[in-house]
Amino acid sequence: GSANLLMPSEVVRDCLLLTQHQIDRAGINCQMSTDSTTTVRMSRTELQQVVVNLILNAVHAMPNGGVLSVTTTDCEGGMIFSVADTGTGIPPEVRPRIFDPFFTTKQAQGTGLGLSISQQIVSRAGGQITVTSTLGEGSCFNVFLPAENNP
Ligand code: ADP
Ligand code: MG
Repeated sequence: GSANLLMPSEVVRDCLLLTQHQIDRAGINCQMSTDSTTTVRMSRTELQQVVVNLILNAVHAMPNGGVLSVTTTDCEGGMIFSVADTGTGIPPEVRPRIFDPFFTTKQAQGTGLGLSISQQIVSRAGGQITVTSTLGEGSCFNVFLPAENNP
């Protein structure tokens, strides 16, 4: 897609609406706080792809319900959006492989491409994805995106 000026907070709110049905159906309580007003230069559809994949991964990690927290915050040089879940967590032996293309632990419906493509999109926008996870407690994916006025 083409690079446009956009506000990640707006995209995140759109993506939560797009995925609301799946979130509700899984009995997940969603907390959202989108304070960031930073603008970034990237394709809207690509950013949507990243955000939707992180949200759906979080939903899949909470088959018995839980809490999904989605936040956007301004920071030095840009903004961070984070998607946190109270789900299964990521086993330490799996953690090094989650960004590999076609790596999936899902029996059905997993392409294993979501995080790989997301990382490419974020990296091309000059950003970075990091993850913290505790087995049995949950995971948090943080995405830094540089502000559009940053060199
Ligand atoms: P897919 O969703 O098709 O499996 P992804 O690239 O999106 O592919 O994710 C790769 C793998 O990373 C998943 O199969 C899962 O094992 C792990 N993973 C990603 N997000 C989470 C999460 N929020 N909680 C637990 N595991 C996760
Ligand atoms: Mg996925």
